[in-house]
Amino acid sequence: MSTNREIVMSGIRPTGYLHLGNYFGAMRNYVKMQDEYDCYFMVADLHSLTTHPDTKELRENVKRVFAENIACGLDPEKVAFYCQSHVHETSELYLYLNMMAYKGELEKTTTFKDKVRQQPDNVNAGLLTYPVLQTADIILHRAKYVPVGKDQEQHLEMARNFVNRFNHRYGEVFPEPFAFNFGGELVKVPSLDGTGKMSKSENQNATIYLADDDEVIRKKIMKAKTDQGPAEPNTPKPDYIENIFQLMRLVSDASTIEKFEADYNNCVIRYGDMKKQLGEDMAKFIAPISEKAAFIQNDEVYLRKVMEQGAEKARASAAKTMELVRAAMGLNYF
Ligand code: ADP
Repeated sequence: MSTNREIVMSGIRPTGYLHLGNYFGAMRNYVKMQDEYDCYFMVADLHSLTTHPDTKELRENVKRVFAENIACGLDPEKVAFYCQSHVHETSELYLYLNMMAYKGELEKTTTFKDKVRQQPDNVNAGLLTYPVLQTADIILHRAKYVPVGKDQEQHLEMARNFVNRFNHRYGEVFPEPFAFNFGGELVKVPSLDGTGKMSKSENQNATIYLADDDEVIRKKIMKAKTDQGPAEPNTPKPDYIENIFQLMRLVSDASTIEKFEADYNNCVIRYGDMKKQLGEDMAKFIAPISEKAAFIQNDEVYLRKVMEQGAEKARASAAKTMELVRAAMGLNYF
């Protein structure tokens, strides 16, 4: 891959079906960045083992995540699109970084605390060191930009801390990585019940998946929480209503959004109509992606080629970085 362009890295866990949050928080930017940057995008199968140790479903999930990304416009010829476990250098770098990550800071991570609540019987060390593995993934390619959603902000801050510690202790090897959204705010796509974010493994009835058919999409949106509407002009929107507007801003055209904004401000909004419109626009947005993804997912020969070719590109970049790392650390003794 070209050496004078800036380097981008990001990943998605194969823990289930991809959803609108993954699309607008991450994949849309992957596609926008692939012509201007040297991009490394990965399917994070090792990360998924921290929460989904049973690998029976992993095989299908990995293939689907590859297929869905390509269906969204990711071009495996332009980027390195690979599977995390195919690049063994990641595990080596993870090990070195673990010596620079402190128990106290790892325990304070919001995502760790959430996971401890969600799976009290499986609070494994991988869960604790999740941000360390994520840092290894990113800096293995010495990436500077990381297209991610808002939920990853804290992990990126930790990545910068680990990088600074490494550079301070052993010499400047890594640039600081930053979460990236073309200078805009990082995206958080809310769940339809207004209780959090859309997600692969939680909140499934309140999450819209790229594989959902038109009918399912319409039904999920019609069930989104609303109320009687505002009683006075220009009332601030409650969170769950703002969520519906936010989803509309992602997929509907400007005149539709303006109409419902005006209706809201004039206290004549009919949420039934708004949700119906959103359902139509959402279904129209998702249908071509899900059709294309289903087609690609059945093409095993193509997918295998994509995976092999991606791993080769990622390994070449990883090998170069690890030579620098071992030399900086003084691990080459002769
Ligand atoms: P999930 O939380 O669904 O398991 P991952 O942890 O695999 O997703 O994250 C993959 C990418 O999708 C990350 O960049 C993450 O920030 C982004 N992402 C996940 N959920 C959302 C959401 N609801 N809104 C915006 N971005 C999201």
